[in-house]
Amino acid sequence: MGRLVLNQLSRSFKDVKAVDGISLEVQDGDFLVLLGPSGCGKTTLLRMIAGLLEPTSGTLELDGADITTAPSRRRDLAMVFQSYALYPHLSVAKNLAFPLTIRGMPRKDIAARVAQVAEMVEIGHLLDRKPKELSGGQRQRVAVARALVREPKAFLMDEPLSNLDAKLRTATRQELAALHRRLGATFIYVTHDQVEAMTMATRIALLKDGRLEQYGTPAELYDAPASVFAAGFMGSPAMNLMDARLASSNGSVTVMAPQLEAVLWPGATPERDVVLGIRPEHLVLHAAGSVAAAPTTGAALRGTVELTENLGREQLIHCRVGEHRLTATCPREQRWEEGAAVVLSAPASRLHLFDRESGRRLE
Ligand code: ATP
Repeated sequence: MGRLVLNQLSRSFKDVKAVDGISLEVQDGDFLVLLGPSGCGKTTLLRMIAGLLEPTSGTLELDGADITTAPSRRRDLAMVFQSYALYPHLSVAKNLAFPLTIRGMPRKDIAARVAQVAEMVEIGHLLDRKPKELSGGQRQRVAVARALVREPKAFLMDEPLSNLDAKLRTATRQELAALHRRLGATFIYVTHDQVEAMTMATRIALLKDGRLEQYGTPAELYDAPASVFAAGFMGSPAMNLMDARLASSNGSVTVMAPQLEAVLWPGATPERDVVLGIRPEHLVLHAAGSVAAAPTTGAALRGTVELTENLGREQLIHCRVGEHRLTATCPREQRWEEGAAVVLSAPASRLHLFDRESGRRLE
């Protein structure tokens, strides 16, 4: 069990609305990532879920029960802290046993439960070690195991990987995702790192200025970002964004921008100013004047190569297109000279359009 419902949850600090009317449902077994830039309200939201901070308004429900004002210890939620908060002088086994000893569980039952959890998290061989004799990733697993012995309804984590170096972060990320699949428990995880969100989450709640910008699966956020903000936040290198205008003539709608061949737009949207988005991996480079440079559908943008960057597996080609700088990824075998005149093309199905005023996606 671990189904959580947030209903118009808000929290203010004086005149700062840290969390502003967030509603969403977390299903049992979800790996929910609360994602967004620094200061968007992720930690405040997690602390309200954990019961460490009272909401200013709104309600919280866990498995059908209203827990809005329930104290933290009554919530059956386990917070796994960034520092892992393990007792340094106790062995792993004693660290795991600690929460059960406090509860007054009989010694025999404690030993059985510790053994069971150690097996689930694959730390049986580490039980006699002290925390300082563990790697960062192992410490992480012990912290999760210690939370697990209490059989919580959900695990809450606030940037648990931020203390680790890049290599260990990747390994621990994979380990955490595997652990989630094995346990089938609900995880709620705070990060500002979109790669962590894309790789581990079953659902992402993208926050901006305390509000929910988009809620969906990683693929939904990547393939159909709901706003210019979501489009720019998800993906590295970031989506190319440029100003354009939707214009209609003879019953069809076209996307117009300087340097852009007119593109037919399938939607029946009225004329307006828009932002056109194209991911770097969807842009194909052609030498200007080549036959391939004139697709019949989709975008074709005229520009000049400004800079090429070799990433090893592929290269990034940065191009000047009018007043914009666009980035395309392309195979390393292709040679593009700086200063070369090019056409960047993308099929119509790969174009994203957003209303310029509201920033919201047009369908
Ligand atoms: P980060 O990634 O930097 O940790 P965050 O997304 O977790 O950021 P929060 O820590 O939730 O953001 O903060 C959201 C907003 O609320 C920020 O503007 C922050 O300054 C403010 N805030 C958070 N806690 C307090 C507090 N105790 N008193 C006053 N303002 C606070």
